[in-house]
Amino acid sequence: MTETASDDERTVLADRLAAVRARVATASAAARRDPRSVRVLLATKTVDAARVRAALAADAAAVAADPALAPVLIGENRVQELVAKGPSLADLAPVTHLIGPLQSNKVNAALRWVSCVESVESLALARRLSERCADRPAPLDVLVQVNVSGEPTKHGIALEEAADLAVAVAALPALRLAGFMTVGLRSPDPAAVGAGYAALAALRDAVVGSGEPGTSGARTLSMGMSGDLEVAVRHGATLVRVGSAVFGARPPL
Ligand SMILES: *Cc1c(COP(=O)(O)O)cnc(C)c1O
Repeated sequence: MTETASDDERTVLADRLAAVRARVATASAAARRDPRSVRVLLATKTVDAARVRAALAADAAAVAADPALAPVLIGENRVQELVAKGPSLADLAPVTHLIGPLQSNKVNAALRWVSCVESVESLALARRLSERCADRPAPLDVLVQVNVSGEPTKHGIALEEAADLAVAVAALPALRLAGFMTVGLRSPDPAAVGAGYAALAALRDAVVGSGEPGTSGARTLSMGMSGDLEVAVRHGATLVRVGSAVFGARPPL
């Protein structure tokens, strides 16, 4: 891949992005929700920096044509890849989220390039993040990642332990609990997938309503991907994370 993406490629990305926004709008309308209450995050794992920029340029054109749209966010899944792309995308750190697992020894490296960590799944990690953010002018936004399906291969804290973790995270000085994230059940059955998303929404409502310090703003529900964003929007997603629907199929890991 050369430094700049071709015009053809930009057109393809623009069309796919428009299709994703149309899906969000249709799903929002069906759920009687304001489509502006659902933000789109582009999951950019395996996508090189030039294509990320091409997608953002396509998005900027769409937002310029319809100012009611909120610009997309970026989500990096792998810290190694985040760090590798970081220098060429440094200006995008304010709109970049980490959406994959973070080991404590990688916290410093990752924090340079992101404005939100969606994958907080333990108090140990949250404490580490808070320590490392102590000198920041503003707290770091974090989401608590929950394993709503209970599948052993999935990251995230168990649903039963998630409220306690969220309350503890919200109390840490240099973090702002912004909400919750999950990777849904991989299933062709929308009802089974939706049950997990409904559980995350109920957890969010319980934590936001708990009155515990730092929890009242934890309204984000990051859930839904290319294959199931409609199900997630129906259950209250405020952020859908879309990769293959915009960038095409990924090479195998
Ligand atoms: C890759 C990824 C996505 C996007 O998946 P698609 O099915 O390609 O839309 C969303 N969330 C996380 C955590 C991911 O790793």
